[in-house]
Amino acid sequence: MRTDDAPLIRLDDYRPSDWLIDTVDLDISLHPTQTRVRSLLALRPNPAGQTDAPLVLDGDELALKALSLDGEPLDASAYAAGPQGLTLHAPPRRGFTLTIETEIDPAANTKLMGLYRSSRVYCTQCEADGFRRITYFLDRPDVMSVYTVRLEAAKAEAPVLLSNGNLVATGEVPGSDRHFALWHDPHPKPAYLFALVGGALDHVRQDYVTAEGRKVELAVYVEPGKADRAGWALDSLARCMRWDEKVFGRNYDLDVFNVVAVSDFNMGAMENKGLNIFNDKYVLADPQIATDGDYASIEAIIAHEYFHNWTGNRITCRDWFQLCLKEGLTVFRDQEFSSDERSRPVKRIADVRTLRSTQFSEDAGPLAHPVRPRAYKEINNFYTPTVYEKGAEVIRMLKVLIGDDAFKRGMDLYFERCDGTAATIEEFLACFAESSGRDLSHFARWYEQAGTPTIVASGRYDAAAQRYTLDLAQSTPPTPGQAEKEPMVLPVRLGLVGAEGDLPLRTQSNAYAGDGLVVFDGPSLSIAFEGVTEPPIPSLLRGFSAPARLELDLSEADLLRQFTRDSDSFNRWQALQSIATRALVAAGRPGADPGALGATAAELGRALGGFLAADALADPAFAAQVLRLPAPADIAREIGKDVDPDAIFSAHRALSTAIGSALLPRLSGLRQALETKGPYRADAASAGRRALRNELLGLVALAAPAEGAALCEQQFETGDNLTDRLAALAAMTLIPGERRERLIARFAEAYAGEPLVLDKWLMAQALIAEPATLERVRGLMRHPAFSLGNPNRVRALIGGFAANLTQFNRADGEGYGFVADIVVALDRTNPQVASRLLGSFKSWRMLEPGRRRQAQEALGLVARTPNLSRDVSDIAERALA
Ligand SMILES: [Zn+2]
Repeated sequence: MRTDDAPLIRLDDYRPSDWLIDTVDLDISLHPTQTRVRSLLALRPNPAGQTDAPLVLDGDELALKALSLDGEPLDASAYAAGPQGLTLHAPPRRGFTLTIETEIDPAANTKLMGLYRSSRVYCTQCEADGFRRITYFLDRPDVMSVYTVRLEAAKAEAPVLLSNGNLVATGEVPGSDRHFALWHDPHPKPAYLFALVGGALDHVRQDYVTAEGRKVELAVYVEPGKADRAGWALDSLARCMRWDEKVFGRNYDLDVFNVVAVSDFNMGAMENKGLNIFNDKYVLADPQIATDGDYASIEAIIAHEYFHNWTGNRITCRDWFQLCLKEGLTVFRDQEFSSDERSRPVKRIADVRTLRSTQFSEDAGPLAHPVRPRAYKEINNFYTPTVYEKGAEVIRMLKVLIGDDAFKRGMDLYFERCDGTAATIEEFLACFAESSGRDLSHFARWYEQAGTPTIVASGRYDAAAQRYTLDLAQSTPPTPGQAEKEPMVLPVRLGLVGAEGDLPLRTQSNAYAGDGLVVFDGPSLSIAFEGVTEPPIPSLLRGFSAPARLELDLSEADLLRQFTRDSDSFNRWQALQSIATRALVAAGRPGADPGALGATAAELGRALGGFLAADALADPAFAAQVLRLPAPADIAREIGKDVDPDAIFSAHRALSTAIGSALLPRLSGLRQALETKGPYRADAASAGRRALRNELLGLVALAAPAEGAALCEQQFETGDNLTDRLAALAAMTLIPGERRERLIARFAEAYAGEPLVLDKWLMAQALIAEPATLERVRGLMRHPAFSLGNPNRVRALIGGFAANLTQFNRADGEGYGFVADIVVALDRTNPQVASRLLGSFKSWRMLEPGRRRQAQEALGLVARTPNLSRDVSDIAERALA
């Protein structure tokens, strides 16, 4: 498809479909290269549509085999059919049926959209518009139909046949080696939620009874021989179902719930009704192949996809502009689930780290867009951190703003009112306006205005009057297509921290007293707190109550006091992050004096030393977060322009090393105290101890390389779980030399035949911040563990390299050229994965002029390549615009 042909699709142009499809009867006869699809559609004119409209069905690379209307073959003059669509020129103005036959080649489908084969398993991915690669259809989310699906396949090849809904019948096909399964899904759904799976699969299963008393059979399907790795996913599923009943009052609504893991998958997972299909990375777990982080992500993603059953499936999106309606809300729900299952403060810190590194950076670059975009060329490029993570922050702010009770009533109203419909953000917000009695029209700007707001805060203390005055000002920088910005509604949770902890909050008007929540919705605001008996430290954006940048000029001494005294865990963590950020921004600027870090390093070392001695064992997971400095990429974003990645990296390395040296005397004792005895357990407390212990290992590796290398070798050889062994590898990558290469080789040997573990091995090497890494990565592309055809391998090795701040951004431009070449090569087979990879260029404009020129050249090279997919050309154009 040519770039120039891609039309811009606009939210303002939305109009309802002229036709509706009440039922779909699919008869799919699976074959690796010639799958026959017969689709019987019951159509009728949409009362809300145009009355004289032709019927235009979507298609993508389809070939029509037969077509009949109400059972009669249609004359060729009555329609036009091509790979991209099927048009009936003058359909009857009444209900009628259409039978469409197509034939498709799953084995040749390398785009992994529509029906394809992955390691001998047939599977589908239809969101956003993959269903049109299976049959001609009104492939838009506001056309919701009841599906009945008959699947047929050779018994030996596909003994398991799954689709959405409940199983109605199975049987043999007489006189053949084939069998069939008939599935019926009573819940109307859009085509993007259709799914089928066929193959030889093992499974684990469990009975579940919902709070409403419905008996449900839960099952997780995996490649043969891997059933013993499916238990954690199954257990997570049962736990999140119970949680959704308790917290959101949502019960499951079918007799079966199936999860299937496949090894070739473009995304993380997909919430198809009753049949979730997962990237196997987010299902398979045992202590030998999954880290603590993997256990936590599996739990979170299983929950995310399950929660979609209500927020996404029962209530779907009217159009793709409303994507955040299901994604932002469902991310919020899965974050809440994980917070309840694990440590809430630690989960919040981890989520904010992700938000800042992925979404703030998107907001700061050429790919910035609102949570609800107004126009797109390729919707696949809008499955972004802005829609997901910032979309979740908007829900979180809404809850803070209107309070827990009104939020809960609003959710109940939404479930009640919008069930079975394809909804909009406006309909969603109306429920909360009603439940809270508040006007949310200004708040709705969060969906329309892109960019990260900055809050500039300053305070004055008047000792004589015992008054503390806090001044706030907000602004949002311009983003593509939005030069002028309006003030946002920012819920600012705050406190005043005194010598003994929080001071009471009293104002003259009493407007902000009590709960410490200030709704900051104008360009500026001044609040005078009365009866303040000592100079306080303002603690703002507690719990990160709004996704904003905060500029607050506290002294290092105040930040250190805040770290020890703030009652808000998030801001305790933030206080030390702020000290480190400020020092790294100063030292990471071109021409800065690296010696300037010395004083801060000493202060941080002292503070962390005291903290580790007093508190570390009380909450090791939190301590691990405290110990981890902001990433070099965060510092680059803070500096914002003329960024020199090498200068930032050197400063970062110097500070980490200095902190490690200061802590060195305590490290081995602490590591010993944190050792977990007995067999591996995946629970949050054990994971927290490992996290801190391994954070300390990284510091030893930097501060005392010889001692660190020995510890890494020992931990790798004696470790009984992947978390510790991978941490040993990661720490060893910080120490150049022969021992590192030996451990890298040992790791590959130990995990040969474990592709998901080798992904981590590939990534650990791609992240080494040394000039030789590019050659290493080129070499690894020839390793048998790597394949350009598998999205997980590409994300690990090439995606890992593109996330390597200093090596992707090499001054000679070789890093850009390498990634650009791969994007172009990959685009021919898998445009979605290619365009994701091209998104790594999203921060190129903030670089210093030399690198900027090199990055622009590489992007230009991609943009000028003939016959680019719409996915890649869209990103290239926007990145260069
Ligand atoms: Zn989702």
